[in-house]
Amino acid sequence: CAKRDDRKQIQVFDEEMKRQMERTAVLRDGLVAAIDQGTLESAFQVLVDVETGFPKSAEALARWTHPELGPVSPAEFIPLAEQTGAIRDLTIWQLENACRCCAEWPGDISVSVNLSAKDFSSDTIIGSIEKALQQAALDPSRLIIEITETAMLELRTDVLAAITEIRSRGVRVALDDFGTGYSSLSYLHKIPFDILKIDRSFVEAVESDPRQLQVLSGITQLARLLEKSVVIEGIETQEMMDLLSERVDFDLAQGYLFGRPMRERDIATLVSAFGGTGSRKNGFSAVA
Ligand code: C2E
Ligand code: MG
Ligand code: MG
Ligand code: MG
Repeated sequence: CAKRDDRKQIQVFDEEMKRQMERTAVLRDGLVAAIDQGTLESAFQVLVDVETGFPKSAEALARWTHPELGPVSPAEFIPLAEQTGAIRDLTIWQLENACRCCAEWPGDISVSVNLSAKDFSSDTIIGSIEKALQQAALDPSRLIIEITETAMLELRTDVLAAITEIRSRGVRVALDDFGTGYSSLSYLHKIPFDILKIDRSFVEAVESDPRQLQVLSGITQLARLLEKSVVIEGIETQEMMDLLSERVDFDLAQGYLFGRPMRERDIATLVSAFGGTGSRKNGFSAVA
């Protein structure tokens, strides 16, 4: 009867919740240990110049394999790190590792690191960025800080001042996952940033309805008016790249078509295969 079914469902739900809570507890402890022991890894994904196809930049993406549970997605462990406060050490490690790798790569390729809104809850972030640059002897113009649109909207005015400070030192700031938050075009001019990263969901939208190209094209035109560089994320096929390059004005492309996230030395190999990054300037200065 219906009642018994209900009870059964509740039981299944309870068990599922219990399992999830146990996993979370295990991951939480494991993550702190992994950061302490230096067993987190970083994969890098290239961003290529739309005009020339040269790799211009690489994004550092955290990778973690739990000793018992296997690979864990950043979509799962980054929010945990934010909840526990472990994100601060994770970010410092990412900054230092990314700057060190970038300094070792051939040519003048840039590197980007994802920051969380939580990284701005103390005022040490600027010091951490400076230290990472100094340790690696990397020019600030080769580091990009990525902050999601949603995180950017949460940030208070003093944090926005910190971002302005970061930019004044020559480090560029990218607005990540654009289009997944409020997407209110009217606030864009109030946010201090250099690079607009248009989320993969727009590419998916174009796949299902080519009329979406007009939306994409409108966004990039606005970005041009605001003198921002434009990246489109999540390009997986040559057909999509052809369509986008024909109809949309953007500077850099990122996606499986150009390379999956890879090991740091594979980035070096890839850059060498291209004979460098194509110019002494880097791709993000394409706005002119
Ligand atoms: P994100 O910063 O927007 O990074 C892009 C994500 O899209 C990456 O997923 C990348 O592997 C994936 N991707 C790139 N090209 C394609 C494509 O053509 N098709 C598809 N289907 N996916 C593509 P990943 O590595 O799983 O990272 C997910 C998110 O986790 C990142 O999104 C970022 O927000 C966060 N994250 C990763 N590493 C860090 C980190 O070190 N710190 C912080 N705060 N967040 C991080
Ligand atoms: Mg990113
Ligand atoms: Mg993104
Ligand atoms: Mg994303």
